[in-house]
Amino acid sequence: MKKLFCFTAALFIVFSLAACKTSEKEDNGSYSLKTSSTDFNPVSSETVEDSIPSEPEYTESEEPQEKVYVGVEEIKLSAYEKTLNIGERFMPIVTMLPENASNKAEIWESDNTAVATVNKYGNITAIGEGNCTVTVKSADKPELSAVFKVTVNAPVKVELTYFDGILIVNKSYPLPSDYNPGVNSEAKAALNEMFSAAAGDGCSMRVVSGFRSYTVQKNLYNNYVKRDGVSAADRYSARPGFSEHQTGLAFDINDANSSFEGTKEAIWLAENAYKYGFILRYPDGKEHITGYKYEPWHYRYIGVENAAKIFSSGLTLEEYFGITSVYAE
Ligand SMILES: [Zn+2]
Repeated sequence: MKKLFCFTAALFIVFSLAACKTSEKEDNGSYSLKTSSTDFNPVSSETVEDSIPSEPEYTESEEPQEKVYVGVEEIKLSAYEKTLNIGERFMPIVTMLPENASNKAEIWESDNTAVATVNKYGNITAIGEGNCTVTVKSADKPELSAVFKVTVNAPVKVELTYFDGILIVNKSYPLPSDYNPGVNSEAKAALNEMFSAAAGDGCSMRVVSGFRSYTVQKNLYNNYVKRDGVSAADRYSARPGFSEHQTGLAFDINDANSSFEGTKEAIWLAENAYKYGFILRYPDGKEHITGYKYEPWHYRYIGVENAAKIFSSGLTLEEYFGITSVYAE
């Protein structure tokens, strides 16, 4: 009974298909022929692909260039640990193996960003004292990684340096970055007194630059470095933390430019400033000692008593106290 039903059903299907084919032929002969050839004489997929020229990605000529995927197997670093000072940077070089790995993308991470941060290129920046690990993973296989140990030193405590009660600031003796006293009132009063006396002698004077904070000096110095480069900038501008202007005791008068040299104001200052407690800080011909080119406009307040001693000695502060003015690095 079951067999008979199946046979009947099969017969019905075959008959229906034949009827369908016939009707298609009547409507459109060519279309029906195409349909029947694919229905009843299936061709290989390759043949079909070759017969569609509008899709170039399937053409035979490009097939050999298709890249074979090569996975990352190992990550090596040029260094695995480093001790840094706050603000310092370091970037270990990464090698992903094998050489022909398909995806060498890196994923960087620091386990303590209060100690050191790392950017997507692996550039590590020391932030605060302590230890941390920076990890580089393979984007291809995140289970593969290399670990870099970072130690960040405690911040260097800079203390004020005095000789005979004179605050010394030069390339060897910096100021703390947070030392921010503003203009010294005693120095300002002495300066006004000096300007009045100079005016009595027909000399017109004004301050063009007095107190400069660490941040102001940093911006100033960085701009000079951008313009002239480090070695040139270091001859006339102090690095942040090394400027006498940060003491609030130094003043640039009238024109911080070599054109000030030889003016009657420059001559008056050179002859009389010590009487008001000021010294010419960077004299001509003393660059190898003070660390700075001749600055006829830059005067430093050290008090009347000290200024008289230094003036009569004919020495710079460095020579007078037998100290250097050289950057540590
Ligand atoms: Zn100055």
